[in-house]
Amino acid sequence: MAAPALSAEPGLYIHIPFCARKCAYCDFPCFEGRMGLREPYVRALISELERRGREWGHPQIHTVFIGGGTPSLLQPEQMARVLGALRGAFALKRDAEISCEANPGALTRRFLDTLREGGVNRLSLGAQSADGGLLRLLGRQHGWPQVEQAVRLARSCGFDNLNIDLMLGLPGQTPALWRETLQAALALSPEHLSCYGLIVEEGTPLRQRLDAGELRLPDEDEERLMYDEAIGRLSRAGLEQYEISNFARPGRACRHNLNCWLREDYLGFGSAAHTLQGGDTRLSNPSDIGAYLRGEAPARQTIGQRERMFESVMLGLRLRQGLSLARFERTYAQSFESVFGGAARRSVQNGLSEYTRDGFFRLTRAGMDVMNSVLLDFMPEDSLS
Ligand code: SF4
Repeated sequence: MAAPALSAEPGLYIHIPFCARKCAYCDFPCFEGRMGLREPYVRALISELERRGREWGHPQIHTVFIGGGTPSLLQPEQMARVLGALRGAFALKRDAEISCEANPGALTRRFLDTLREGGVNRLSLGAQSADGGLLRLLGRQHGWPQVEQAVRLARSCGFDNLNIDLMLGLPGQTPALWRETLQAALALSPEHLSCYGLIVEEGTPLRQRLDAGELRLPDEDEERLMYDEAIGRLSRAGLEQYEISNFARPGRACRHNLNCWLREDYLGFGSAAHTLQGGDTRLSNPSDIGAYLRGEAPARQTIGQRERMFESVMLGLRLRQGLSLARFERTYAQSFESVFGGAARRSVQNGLSEYTRDGFFRLTRAGMDVMNSVLLDFMPEDSLS
């Protein structure tokens, strides 16, 4: 069966599921202590890249994101083989953005040189906090000096597009501690900063400690203060907010993630990776490494028109510029107003969203704090049951 056509600017995601140790808050599909599986995993990944590249007729790819897990736990020569297979199987656009995630404590010059030689031009460092106590509480494997060292190393290897991931709303984190983290991150002059609010997932060690009353989360006011501090301080430092959690210098927004928020197609490779093809088909690779290595087929889901429209709203409202009304109408041959007029009016009346003069529908600052409850009103009724 021929693969369906891809949208104009497809991205490509590669998942590397290995981690040295599971962080206390993490429920991502990543695995601790299974490093012996790296080689068979790399072989399976390469064969998936080659096979699907052939099936799709080696399409042009605009952005690549190598995430995890901890991609920097691969051996440099393993990463070189993955990057070589990627180039053999897909036509990477000349100016493609190619990002790789890395943990500051697990980064070597050889690994970074390998990334550069393989065309990786953007590095994303999982720093999370400048406070040693909070890093230990999160179960992270590094301290802030290693973040500084990783940034120096990356710069000396030629990376001129760096992201630093930070987290706010951590147990015991005060606005003053958060300010110090922002200050320490800005001192490293990154081109991009991600500031994610902690989501406490069920079944994680962090959830258990919170339930046992050992830890306390900041209250809503403190968390709002931290978020406002990020928006104000980063904007003054030249990093504009372009998405709920993401800030960038002009021209340095992450193109790969932007495409996802615009609901462009993407091809996912590796365990737990998802693919969106033709806008209406989602493929989900098995999240278990063993099942992936045995070659189990991805689960296939067809996404109905109403659900696609809701996804466009949900993703579009993450962007500061909001959802483009013209793009919505072009994609679905129906106006946003005709589908979502009622829900949109209610959230505008409540001061949670607004129409802009240049044809976008977006959240207000108050709406950003309660995005999930705003979205409830836009959900298709059958997904509410
Ligand atoms: S490094 Fe990232 S993926 Fe790995 S356990 Fe920690 S949070 Fe999860």
